[in-house]
Amino acid sequence: MKNLKTIFKLSVVIVSLIVSCSSSDPTPVTVPSGSVSITDVVKSKYKSAVTITVGTTSIVLKSNGLPDHKTPYWGVGNALYEDFPNGHHTNVNTSMTDHNYSMTIPVNPTAASTHEATSLGPIGMALNGVPIYNDREGGNVALDALTITTFDYSGAHPGPGKDYHYHTTGTYLTVDDANLVGILRDGFPIYGRQDKDGTYPVDLDAYGGHTKATAEFLDGIYHYHASNVNYLNTGYYILKAGSYYGTKGTFTF
Ligand SMILES: [Zn+2]
Ligand SMILES: [Zn+2]
Repeated sequence: MKNLKTIFKLSVVIVSLIVSCSSSDPTPVTVPSGSVSITDVVKSKYKSAVTITVGTTSIVLKSNGLPDHKTPYWGVGNALYEDFPNGHHTNVNTSMTDHNYSMTIPVNPTAASTHEATSLGPIGMALNGVPIYNDREGGNVALDALTITTFDYSGAHPGPGKDYHYHTTGTYLTVDDANLVGILRDGFPIYGRQDKDGTYPVDLDAYGGHTKATAEFLDGIYHYHASNVNYLNTGYYILKAGSYYGTKGTFTF
């Protein structure tokens, strides 16, 4: 019994040595999938409009989905109203309204064995509680130039359900930086086009992410990046396309 305890203590020392060695080396890092808790970052980075409930294995984020910044979709006369970007206009004859969003994500996001494709509807939640969508619109067709003329400066618009959502980078979210945008439904964070050292990642995998240190996760975590491709030359950059890296949690409304 005593021997067992000694072996255990010894292995703890060895493991901590390995961990401290790897964390002193900024890039690249080896972080076992599922070993990083996102709880502290979720609690400190999500804005007060988002209600956070932390359980043993999962975190529930609730919001009404309305942006905390200017957009034409507030309507003329609202204090947060601003015009569309040049040449843009609403062509969907819609406005936005509040919803009861609830996203459940794992405390310790983990790589999935099979990577499920993202689909229409919310694939994540930005730090202000607004849903993040992929690069598709109704009918599962890729965003086209006409649809993009309904985007505000934030790369967002409401859908037929008056549900305001982000598809791309934009003024109030991330433009050309390493900002933390939010967390996708698999619990992994999504960032702007840059890494925290100001470089554009060149080692992104098929899911648009990699494991590296970020400003919020200094010891490294798997994270997504916004695409670095100027989408259809519109000046917007798709936040996330393709499949999830981890297993997606629920998003209800
Ligand atoms: Zn949309
Ligand atoms: Zn990165």
